[in-house]
Amino acid sequence: MSTPPPPVTDPDPSTFVCLGSQVGPCSGCQRKTWKYGHGGSPLCQWCAAPVLKQWGPQVRYLSTRP
Ligand SMILES: [Zn+2]
Repeated sequence: MSTPPPPVTDPDPSTFVCLGSQVGPCSGCQRKTWKYGHGGSPLCQWCAAPVLKQWGPQVRYLSTRP
């Protein structure tokens, strides 16, 4: 993601497509975001991006594997 994140007062774009009851503060920056929307992440897309880059998209599959 090359664009810099907007100010934390702006909600994450995911909040526009999810239910209002699913909106909550990001665990990282407290921005309004779709809590546990993308892969169960409590982070907004800007906080989640570096995490996904570090761990890769497979991390959620590994965590649910018995
Ligand atoms: Zn965030």
